Amino acid sequence: MNPLKTKLIKRIEEAGPVSVAEYMTLCLLDPTLGYYPTRDPLGSDGDFITAPEISQMFGEVLGLWCVQSWIDLGRPETVQLVELGPGRGIMMSDMLRAAKLDEGFAKAVNVTLIEASAALEAVQGRTLGGCGVPVSWAKDLSGVSSGPTIIIGNEFLDCLPIRQLICEDRFAGAAGWHERLVGINDDKELQFVKSPAPISDVLAQSLPSEAKNARNDDLMEINPSAAQLLDQIKTRFEDHPGRVLFIDYGPEVTEFGDTLQALNRHEKVGVFSDPGNTDLTARVDFQALAETAKAIGLETTQAVPQREFLSKLGIEMRAVALTRAKPDAKEKLTRQLRRLMAEDEMGVLFKAIAVQSPGLPVPLGLR
Ligand code: SAH
Repeated sequence: MNPLKTKLIKRIEEAGPVSVAEYMTLCLLDPTLGYYPTRDPLGSDGDFITAPEISQMFGEVLGLWCVQSWIDLGRPETVQLVELGPGRGIMMSDMLRAAKLDEGFAKAVNVTLIEASAALEAVQGRTLGGCGVPVSWAKDLSGVSSGPTIIIGNEFLDCLPIRQLICEDRFAGAAGWHERLVGINDDKELQFVKSPAPISDVLAQSLPSEAKNARNDDLMEINPSAAQLLDQIKTRFEDHPGRVLFIDYGPEVTEFGDTLQALNRHEKVGVFSDPGNTDLTARVDFQALAETAKAIGLETTQAVPQREFLSKLGIEMRAVALTRAKPDAKEKLTRQLRRLMAEDEMGVLFKAIAVQSPGLPVPLGLR
């Protein structure tokens, strides 16, 4: 039997059902049995593939975005460039290659990677070994040297643990919402259960604005870790200005429904099928993210489709330049561009949004 499943079932027998967030955290990050700490999940041999793994062009145009952000911050002598969840370090490597063409930026940049998995940290170290700028690792933002900051996270928010709440009566305040939990059935198999107790008043008051339109049985996902991250960002930006770019999959406006999904070798599988051995993610609610950021005094852009953002950063021109340099690669580059940009691939489902200190210009490629 799957050892993480055994551990979970024992815990549920002893202490009762766990939240979906606790389930996700254990499955993804348990230090000895969790998904990320025990493998390199990316690439065509892995379970899922991400934009920087598809094409070097993705990281390269983001490198230009970083240079422009550094200029928007007033060309500070030192800028902290932070990546959240850097995977294999490929995006950072591509970004730096392009961004270092600007000498001022190359001198100013100091990279910090925030990575929960020791296995992936080792891969990142290998990828970025010869990148020519200082690179270090931190557990979270509090471990990043102070100063003006640019933060980037691609497919980071989608693996933060979500909680799932079910509406029974939207007019009843906290009493009208019950949390969906992970429990066990008579055969000792994992299953979803509904908490008999309603959610707390504090939680009810912090629900996304769309909660007021919920109908009975609607399921709402909330992301307390994203809210916590925004709090840390806000505190950091009180001392020195900064800008954050998140790219992830999800709708522009809050939608109801269960979006927790497990992937194994690029195929969707049941979320309880093999805990710790499948990737678990949930789509990002960009409206709720922006509401939370604004409520604590940060500015945000709209969430724009990935294809609009990358096009404004000049990705098509980059493809033309690469093709000119390597005519043999034309077909491959066209295929890569299509995967990043097409409506039926990542172009529309994925969105980019920036969150920043008040008073900075609108970031390149966004609105
Ligand atoms: N950004 C990369 C990888 C995305 S996968 C890419 O686009 O290819 C998610 C990454 O976030 C992995 O590196 C994973 O180990 C890391 N991660 C997941 N939860 C984390 C957490 N709570 N803190 C820091 N890193 C985390």
